[in-house]
Amino acid sequence: MRFYAIRDIKAGEQLFYSYCAADNSLATRRTELAPCSFVCKCPACVNATPETDKLRTTFKAQIQAFRNAALNSQISQTMLKKALKLEKAMIKEGLDIELPFALLLEVISAAYEKLGKVRKEQTIDCLGKNSGSAWKMKHRSIASVNQYFSC
Ligand SMILES: [Zn+2]
Repeated sequence: MRFYAIRDIKAGEQLFYSYCAADNSLATRRTELAPCSFVCKCPACVNATPETDKLRTTFKAQIQAFRNAALNSQISQTMLKKALKLEKAMIKEGLDIELPFALLLEVISAAYEKLGKVRKEQTIDCLGKNSGSAWKMKHRSIASVNQYFSC
């Protein structure tokens, strides 16, 4: 098995492999894992709530709605606020490694540009100062998406 990292990995850091789709609820994940005869004890399963299940089962549709709005020039401050809220929730839930997350970042970036705003992380990065690892990871995610769609 070969892994490709989208962020730096510390020596000795544990790597995970998902047996289930990230956009499934806890109940669906447990049903899918039942034939494997184990109960998953990852943070997403142990800490699952109705809110995290809702996030997992709706984040792709929410991102698609943001993308559609952006494609139809319907970017607004309200949309940006909702997209930033989704970004925060996805990071907290560990969904920031999913491909749709990179698409969300692309929409957020387009919204900032359209609304004439500059994200703090981008400003720091452009000045060549010490940028945060979160921005580096996001930047790599967008690069990955671009490579994905250019094939
Ligand atoms: Zn799990």
